[in-house]
Amino acid sequence: MIKKTIDWLFPQCCCVCQTEISRDSIFCSKCFSEIIFIDVPICSRCGKMLTVPLPPEEEQICDVCFNTNEIFFDISRSLFLYNNFSRRIIFRIKKRADVEIIRACVRMLINRYGPIVRDIDFIVPVPSHWTRNLLRGYNPSRMIAEEFSKILCIPIDDGLKRIRRTEYQRGKTAKERVRNVESAFTYRGNLKDKRILLIDDVMTTGATLNECSRTLKMAGSPFVMCMNLATTSITDPIKT
Ligand SMILES: [Zn+2]
Ligand SMILES: [Zn+2]
Repeated sequence: MIKKTIDWLFPQCCCVCQTEISRDSIFCSKCFSEIIFIDVPICSRCGKMLTVPLPPEEEQICDVCFNTNEIFFDISRSLFLYNNFSRRIIFRIKKRADVEIIRACVRMLINRYGPIVRDIDFIVPVPSHWTRNLLRGYNPSRMIAEEFSKILCIPIDDGLKRIRRTEYQRGKTAKERVRNVESAFTYRGNLKDKRILLIDDVMTTGATLNECSRTLKMAGSPFVMCMNLATTSITDPIKT
């Protein structure tokens, strides 16, 4: 009776289209069916979807990873494709700090990739510059990292800092993105033998994650795994 009254007073609404839904969900079935979850074939390194799979005996690797000589993260995985539809989900996280959506997405990520998250010592959020945190009041990546930390019982390490206020990556070419984040981060401390789970909301070209990973490895970390809520584009596999 009380539960019914609560449901009537505060109905649960789909986080994308606002239709009323049952309390144990955050998406209506229509919106849920529109999310493109990352699924095989994927690049074994960056986790982006491949347009076609390579023969099973070949390493499933995308054209971009194959042709980039310096990738500093060991592996990256994301939950859904960043497109016009899922942009609305990311918007709720970035602009409204919606913890319920973050929690649901992190649970789905862990259900999907939990078995490959092994022997992690610290969870590190991709930092935003302190001036941006001050304006917004929070860092979305930190909020996502907190949910990971709660579920996996692994502590957060806030030692990674953004020392330069970089321009937004939006609208930049891959090369410009790399240049924009070059030497933008620092880690004061020692990560010798510490395996890191690096958290971001959206992976686009991976330039920011790569620069963060480079910084963490320079601090001594032997292993950096990235987890993101969303990633852009479906890439071609290497032609063999
Ligand atoms: Zn909906
Ligand atoms: Zn790749």
